[in-house]
Amino acid sequence: LAGRMMDYPLTLTHFLDRARTYHARCEIVTQNPDRTVSRSTYADLHRRASKLAHALTRLGVRAGDRVATLCWNHARHLELYLGVPAMGAVLHTLNLRLHPSELGYIASHAEDKVVVVDRSLLPLFRKFAPEVRSIQRVLVLDDDGPVDPAAGDGLDYEALLAPEPDHFDFPSLDERSAAMLCYTSGTTGNPKGVAYSHRSIVLHTLVSCMHDALGFRDRDIVLPVVPMFHAMAWGLPYAAIATGASLVLPGPHLDASSLLDLMARERVTFAAGVPTIWLGILALLDEHPKRWDLSSMRAMVIGGSAAPPALIDGFRARHGLVVLHAWGMTETNPLGTVAHVRSSLGRLREDPAASLQTRASQGYPVPFIDQRHVDAGDRPLPWDGRTMGELEVRGPWVASSYFGGEGEDRFTKDGWFKTGDVVTIDGEGYMRIADRTKDVIKSGGEWISSVALENALMSHPAVLEAAVFAARHPLWGERPLAAIVLRQGQSASKEQLHALLEPRFAKFWLPDEYLFLERIPRTSTGKFLKSKLREEFADLLER
Ligand code: ADP
Repeated sequence: LAGRMMDYPLTLTHFLDRARTYHARCEIVTQNPDRTVSRSTYADLHRRASKLAHALTRLGVRAGDRVATLCWNHARHLELYLGVPAMGAVLHTLNLRLHPSELGYIASHAEDKVVVVDRSLLPLFRKFAPEVRSIQRVLVLDDDGPVDPAAGDGLDYEALLAPEPDHFDFPSLDERSAAMLCYTSGTTGNPKGVAYSHRSIVLHTLVSCMHDALGFRDRDIVLPVVPMFHAMAWGLPYAAIATGASLVLPGPHLDASSLLDLMARERVTFAAGVPTIWLGILALLDEHPKRWDLSSMRAMVIGGSAAPPALIDGFRARHGLVVLHAWGMTETNPLGTVAHVRSSLGRLREDPAASLQTRASQGYPVPFIDQRHVDAGDRPLPWDGRTMGELEVRGPWVASSYFGGEGEDRFTKDGWFKTGDVVTIDGEGYMRIADRTKDVIKSGGEWISSVALENALMSHPAVLEAAVFAARHPLWGERPLAAIVLRQGQSASKEQLHALLEPRFAKFWLPDEYLFLERIPRTSTGKFLKSKLREEFADLLER
């Protein structure tokens, strides 16, 4: 029997309309490069997205064309997030932290037709633009001063929008058409493009807003520290717009002190970013526990790489702040799992100490994401909390192939996506990441979880950051080395760190060496860049 319900398209245009109809007064706060703050509303968002659609149409942008951005997090980036997909074109966010040669490759691969650039990022843009043959127009945002087309800046975005009408007749779109294109950072091989559809983003947004996912409410004031050029800022902009939550966009100022100032001043309730950002914030809060009033904060979502238990517990115990640990990937739109402590776990839910290991796990899948972990022959492994295998996921916002068709080996014949993460899953379905397949340490044929060792090392009060990686070893194949960054003015010896790990891990897991560094190299999205550590130190044990 056929259901008899309407086939209403799941497109982003609905969110844009809704923003104007029900949340018109909702605020968007942008911190500018000169630290002044600009304020606008969701009514402005709708009006400006309409003007943008007119302007882009006039420039020849048609359905399916790629409009790229090279921008920080700000209100105009948000209007591009809505206006471009709603007119049927595809928004492609370029990661401004990548090397110009990678950006050139990505923009060419995506065949970007129009690029919208922050004026402050023009020097970077000029380094790769000449090699991108598809680019027809460059629109410049006057973030750090007036745009000068005569000096070869490109078109002035504001001048282009100014004469356009406030209303655009947004077309009705196929929900399966592409709305956004995001590239993985390509730490192995070339970056690969993921084309999110309207439908995948809408479904992802609805589930993200569930109480036991991110749980947005219209009262929330959301600060996406995670860049809008990385994995759609984890979908936070759309989730905020769908619920009518306000947005605070930090612009280029992402240091701990600027973020804390912004959180306190704007009474932020919900913030999100990678662990490295929060490690810096926690260290500063520990130094000055009374300087910022963070009483408005409801939760911080941390993901992108493993949030150490010491970080999660440090925020709770010393500052009364709640951390939600989540896992996701560019290929999953990106939210996949959230580490909520289910009430069916009983006492755990009420007891912060007992539940820490659950809250520090990567969590269990949100609705419509299925998970399994498999051995090398793609056979599912037991959910016993011990057996490690590669995580595979599937669901309506998981990529079914890459844009351009590369990386076919990441998709199984029976419809799962191979994440490249090595995990355990326990009897309750909680997933724990032990490593990425490319970072895994294999010693004498056994896997050692670098993430577990890092978490333990970061529980030492003198350790700010720890990254454990593989060095070649003549007998064992590989052995773990630990790179350590100490907190300012604090000390810890190799022996002390070793003694901390000894009671917790099998002997063969313990690092062979501890390297005290000033800084751990980072990827473009702020994660530890272990390939760089391996490059420098992989032969240390053979020297
Ligand atoms: P890349 O890191 O290659 O730039 P993504 O941003 O898509 O690309 O990263 C996805 C990867 O980040 C996951 O496969 C996983 O290894 C890691 N990751 C994401 N969230 C977490 C988390 N909460 N804990 C541990 N690792 C995480």
